[in-house]
Amino acid sequence: MKRLLMASALAGAMFANTAIAAEDLPQANDAYFLSAQQTLQQKLMEQDNTNQAKNIILFVGDGMSIPTVTAARIFEGQKRGVDGESNSLIFGQFPNVALSKTYTNDAQIADSAPTASAMVAGVKINNGTIGVSKEVSRGDCEAQKANPIKSIAAQAEERGMSTGWVSTARLTHATPAANYVHTADRNWESDSDLSDAAKAAGCPDIAAQMIAWNEGGDGFEVAMGGGRRMFIDKTMEDPEDSGKMGQRSDGRDLTKEWLKANGEGAAYVWNQEQLDKLDLTKTKKVLGLFDRSHMEYEADRAKDAAGEPSIAEMTGKAIDILSKNENGFFLMVEAGRIDHAHHAGNAARALEDTVALNDAVKEAMSKVNLNDTLIIVTADHSHTMSISGYAERGNPILGTSQGKADDDKPYTTLGYMNGPGALKDEVRSDLSNVDTTDIDFLQQALVPMSSETHAGDDVAIFAAGPWSHLFHGVVEQNFIYHVMAHASKIQDRMAAK
Ligand SMILES: [Zn+2]
Repeated sequence: MKRLLMASALAGAMFANTAIAAEDLPQANDAYFLSAQQTLQQKLMEQDNTNQAKNIILFVGDGMSIPTVTAARIFEGQKRGVDGESNSLIFGQFPNVALSKTYTNDAQIADSAPTASAMVAGVKINNGTIGVSKEVSRGDCEAQKANPIKSIAAQAEERGMSTGWVSTARLTHATPAANYVHTADRNWESDSDLSDAAKAAGCPDIAAQMIAWNEGGDGFEVAMGGGRRMFIDKTMEDPEDSGKMGQRSDGRDLTKEWLKANGEGAAYVWNQEQLDKLDLTKTKKVLGLFDRSHMEYEADRAKDAAGEPSIAEMTGKAIDILSKNENGFFLMVEAGRIDHAHHAGNAARALEDTVALNDAVKEAMSKVNLNDTLIIVTADHSHTMSISGYAERGNPILGTSQGKADDDKPYTTLGYMNGPGALKDEVRSDLSNVDTTDIDFLQQALVPMSSETHAGDDVAIFAAGPWSHLFHGVVEQNFIYHVMAHASKIQDRMAAK
């Protein structure tokens, strides 16, 4: 309230004072100075939005560390032929930002399972587990059955809201699964993946839980991503990749079961053409499984056999369906493969997928109103990529720095602390004649590991819309849920049944 009064009643005087002071300085006409003055005035005009959030969209860049965001911002600008360093991603323009502490109940450095639950259910739990309390250790099926936690998606369903999740990873992967699953092990994606003990004790696999999910409501309205093989039996051939089979051992085709259970208005699609042909005015629910495993990296998407939608297209279609509900919706959108590219030590693909996520945020912004929709863009955990050296302004972000290292060889601006980029390098290889901007180039790394690891540094939370101003300072990752619940007043909403 204080801020609001200052901004309105005293605005004139404050601006006048700033302007006089600025004019006196020798740097007053410098373009950087003027631009920062403009930013100051914009910020002084900003007012907290305390509306009820009818809708919530949670974007998660899996492994989208702060260096990933910075490098992607430069990369995106350079791709468009504009200045990269001063460029802004769309979510970089959001008014509110906080830092998120990503450690978990049992780990200094997180995997994507407990972090997703932290964001959608408000507590820190153990690495490898999803949708269960911290009393559950990884792999303990008996404990899983006794200790579920409830996601904001389940609560939204209880209140008659629509729910959905979109991911470029498998829909049974940790981040999207946190919306609907209760599992002691993130790897139990199909029944073939269950441990013998879990099978004997009757813990259902993740894909089966997704199809059966009706916690509090009528199940999800939208689920789009990859992971088709988790939903069909190993005797069933994949529709896209001839000769490749499903992964289940129980003879089930969960896509058919889901269609049957949801009746008229429900659609199952597995390629771009089918998605494009959907009449969204008549579609009440959609299950889209566009790849046997994870969807393609954005850089490779055009080469996909049957054609795959972009994360932006999936986000747009999801909002079209979800926004038909006057009670509002909860949607999670995960750019799941930023993480995979980092694990491969492949910065170019990580940046391309981050730009694709930025396009998805843009698409969402074009379809919703920030007066009634809270949009959050964050990451579940960091990665070891750093931006280092003394590159000149305008140097390609995937290129080599000016000058040489002490071994008299060039070095790239982007590098990893560990990963496959180190394997060949007992003596650091000479990059003088290597195109480091190539999409397949693996950045050099210090510690040899076949898969580059996650990192433990804080990630950013960017937010716009109702109550997004609650995101400031350094907060625990599980605080994200509490802001979403508060902004949407979900506890005060009438139960649907
Ligand atoms: Zn990972």
